[in-house]
Amino acid sequence: MTYTVTLIPGDGIGPEVTEAARRVIDATGVPIDWQIEEAGADVMDKYGTPLPDRVIESIRRNGVALKGPITTPIGTGFRSVNVALRAALDLYANVRPAKYFAGVRSRYHDVDLVVVRENTEDLYAGVEFEMGKPETEKLIADLAALSGKKLRPDSGISIKPISVSGTQRIVTYAFEYARANHRQKVSAVTKANIMKFTDGLFLHVARQVAERYPDIEFQEVLIDNMCMQLVQRPEDYDVLVLMNLYGDIVSDLCAGLVGGLGVAPGANIGTSAALFEPVHGSAPKYAGQNKADPTATLLSGIMMLRHLGEEDAANRAEAALAEVIKENKDVTYDLKPDRRGGVGTSEMADAIIRQMEKAPALR
Ligand code: NAD
Repeated sequence: MTYTVTLIPGDGIGPEVTEAARRVIDATGVPIDWQIEEAGADVMDKYGTPLPDRVIESIRRNGVALKGPITTPIGTGFRSVNVALRAALDLYANVRPAKYFAGVRSRYHDVDLVVVRENTEDLYAGVEFEMGKPETEKLIADLAALSGKKLRPDSGISIKPISVSGTQRIVTYAFEYARANHRQKVSAVTKANIMKFTDGLFLHVARQVAERYPDIEFQEVLIDNMCMQLVQRPEDYDVLVLMNLYGDIVSDLCAGLVGGLGVAPGANIGTSAALFEPVHGSAPKYAGQNKADPTATLLSGIMMLRHLGEEDAANRAEAALAEVIKENKDVTYDLKPDRRGGVGTSEMADAIIRQMEKAPALR
């Protein structure tokens, strides 16, 4: 069966790293018909928008997409294509594995965890009230009447909505992910002791969902304690499930544990579509130089293969990538011990493909 997958090369280093990842994925032998769709500042002239409808339609139709980074120009008024895509496709789960590969420069060598972050609610829902505006003054007065709490009149306010349904679907996703990926434990991370009606609700719902998965251990951790635990004993953690804001911060922390953004893959999952993309941005200063590290995009593509049920191909590509990083010969500059030298993006992809061909025993 041939899969049809939307490929969004993006801009900056996007086209180079997606091309490298695509070549490695094709070399696994999994038949994929890539439908290339352009988005970003470069297509503004052609389509009048950085996110043409055809891109969203293609992802909806195919259900799966691999995407390179897209620049968000500052001060032009156009909305981030990345944010718009997540909203249009209701991509409610952001999944960020943090796994150490031998050969990557990192302080920690025993990390293999996955951060599952809720992507639509919380303080990032965009319900905000600007300091000094009439509606903010009214809200402050209403809050005083409703809760008896007096906020300072010169306050700005951001609202933190957390729903039962939103929590059910993200925690269920975390457990389903754990089960499908042979993980043992899900840790719900909150500040439920302080914010009882938001974090407390999240934790309450998480406990209910956990009861449906007796085969997977469930753990409750407070966010402040979690931060300390992660820098002391990251090897103790497996799948973490968090609300939007904590998830945003903790996922970057975890990327730092295993060597940084150059090697951090990600996925944005919705009920009808899944979009796989590296965590890093378009690094414009390296655009067109065949210099950028393709690892994060390839790891995102490997997550995509697993999502498609192509476990064997995913394992082969990951093993080949791991070997190339470990040998530390045909890797990009950022994976070298002193960040000097190294091969180009496409040469690193060539080495990974050669490595896959050399290891038929794994097939
Ligand atoms: P960035 O990730 O593009 O770059 C930060 C630094 O990280 C770069 O200078 C580079 O040294 C390094 N880096 C990143 N990826 C690398 C790779 N593959 N190989 C080697 N080094 C790499 O972050 P930024 O500079 O803050 O953002 C640049 C643009 O990307 C912005 O317009 C931003 O909005 C956009 N962005 C897009 C996405 C996305 O498409 N999902 C995500 C983040 C940022």
